[in-house]
Amino acid sequence: MDALNPRSGYDICIRPYYGREDGPLININEALLIRLAGVTAFGRGLHLFEEKCVHSFVTAEKCTDAVVHEQQLHKVRLRHTHRMIEGACDCEASDGIEFCHHCVAVALGLQKRQAPAKSIDKRGALRRIRQHLSRLTHEALLSEFLAAIKEDRHLRDDLLQKVTLASEQLSYQELKQMIDDVSLDDYLYEAPEIRSYFQCLESMLVRLVEIAEKLDPLIFLRGVECAIRRLNEDLGLIEDFGDFRELSIDLLIDLHRKAIGRLDWLPNELASYLVDRRQGDGWHPFDDLPILYEEDLGEAFCEALAQEVESRSFEDATRVLEKYARPSSGQ
Ligand SMILES: [Zn+2]
Repeated sequence: MDALNPRSGYDICIRPYYGREDGPLININEALLIRLAGVTAFGRGLHLFEEKCVHSFVTAEKCTDAVVHEQQLHKVRLRHTHRMIEGACDCEASDGIEFCHHCVAVALGLQKRQAPAKSIDKRGALRRIRQHLSRLTHEALLSEFLAAIKEDRHLRDDLLQKVTLASEQLSYQELKQMIDDVSLDDYLYEAPEIRSYFQCLESMLVRLVEIAEKLDPLIFLRGVECAIRRLNEDLGLIEDFGDFRELSIDLLIDLHRKAIGRLDWLPNELASYLVDRRQGDGWHPFDDLPILYEEDLGEAFCEALAQEVESRSFEDATRVLEKYARPSSGQ
């Protein structure tokens, strides 16, 4: 008998040609095997196959090699085309030419791989899956779903984020992770990648807007500050952001106003906090739209803000802050 295929170190090696009606493999069925081997050999071969005695199964286009373990090892080679199958084994019963029970066992291994791969389109597949799932109990459905998630890391991460966002237990670290996930590591030069970065940033900020109500007010404020900081860092890594950043900035202004609105700080505490933020580097919502904060927070806040600015001696006070520094700032 020929030496086994050199790839026989693999337990199974299958070329993807099965299931084609005109493929090189004859349709293996029980009647064919009985015709080739006889009833007794078929029964013994079936037993060997069911007992998992077939090993080192290697199949190439028209040839399959395997080893069958029955008290001792027997090397089997099947040759097959779309019209016939013949077997050779090193046992006495085969004597190198007869289709013995070892050949039957290997042929059954081949049959198992002859899966009826009827092609089905996506819509048809989804319809059948839906029918199947709709007949399951809630418990069975859940375990089927969990089994699928277990195998797919991407799906798992995605769902975990949804679950985390839906719960009210979101910590600042989790929120920060969500923000960091869209932040830049490398310099961006090209318009498509810059656009794609801002799209990711915008959808993250929209998600933040959606979950704002569920977050602890201070965690929410820290999250918004973190997002502002990250945007400022990222802007330094972008060749030309043009108008791309406008929507993100609008969303951040909205988020910052929401965050401020949920605090129960006294007007002077708020004013002190905002003036501190103004002194940092980079863009901050408070820079652009002080008028909104006036509207949101009222006269007491404007008073407190004027006092806060007065109490600090800014060498580089901006026009905005100068306005508040004037004694008659309540106007
Ligand atoms: Zn044999």
